[in-house]
Amino acid sequence: MAWSDILGHESAKRFLQTHLATGAVPNAYLFAGPDGVGKRRLALEMAKALNCDAPGARPCDHCPSCARFGRGAHPDLHLLSPSGASNQIKMEDIRMLLGRVALRPFSAPVQVAILDGTDRLTEEAANSLLKVLEEPSVHTKFLLMTSRLSFCLPTIVSRCQLVRCSALPAEVMTRLLIQQHGCDASVAGPVSQLAGGSLARAADLAGRWRAYGQVCARLADTGMGSWLEQPLPETRESVAHLLEAMLSWLRDVTVAAVEPSHVAHAAHAEALRRQAAVTNVERCVDAALELHALRESLDQFVSPRLVAALAREKWLSLTSV
Ligand SMILES: [Zn+2]
Repeated sequence: MAWSDILGHESAKRFLQTHLATGAVPNAYLFAGPDGVGKRRLALEMAKALNCDAPGARPCDHCPSCARFGRGAHPDLHLLSPSGASNQIKMEDIRMLLGRVALRPFSAPVQVAILDGTDRLTEEAANSLLKVLEEPSVHTKFLLMTSRLSFCLPTIVSRCQLVRCSALPAEVMTRLLIQQHGCDASVAGPVSQLAGGSLARAADLAGRWRAYGQVCARLADTGMGSWLEQPLPETRESVAHLLEAMLSWLRDVTVAAVEPSHVAHAAHAEALRRQAAVTNVERCVDAALELHALRESLDQFVSPRLVAALAREKWLSLTSV
């Protein structure tokens, strides 16, 4: 893979390539942007470029160092992500990482630590990482990532060069879904409109496109019939999918109120227009906030059945006529 193989993120790529060309590479970067847009690919490419042996534009993608970084299997590449039931990066995780980077690199000029979920560091772990970021080493670069910049410790953000990774354009996602995921064009197009610029979300949605269509048919029904006839989902994952579909649909109801031709659920434009006519934006926003809180409660191990029932009540109170 080369920079040109990473679609989108043109300004981020230019920014990083300029640093490589001038040698002005800071101690730490923070890649910030939505989940699934390619932050990790950018970070891995930068890690590879930092250690490429070639004299020209880096990475060359041919030298032994590029090959090992490309496989994610270099001994001087350290990866850390949130883990455990709390989905956090804890003090012991950071201590282990910092212990490894405190040693000289094994064979690369620069060892690289890629840390996903900077917003999920415990306070103790964040402060420990901060101390290291305040004492740059020529042998170590930190490539941090986050999808929730506002949840990151401000002092960590201030110690990093921020690299903003924006949502991928729908046409880029459509191409990637067809080329890299073997997706049918009839699915890739509408999925790209619904995925909010996240390729990971688009690929997930494409994999359950038929089921998503059934959920949409239920959301399009302004009566109670389909809700009473069909059972509610029961697993945590399927309830999460229902809530995410409701939130995406609600966004489209508000769009339909002002510009019906711009809805993402294009196949349901008429149903959306009807629903927009019997509600208003304020009610949609209130409902979206409540549904979002229900989505969060799923991660707090509230019963999925209870969450699904509460979501159904909220939905019916909003859309039934
Ligand atoms: Zn190389």
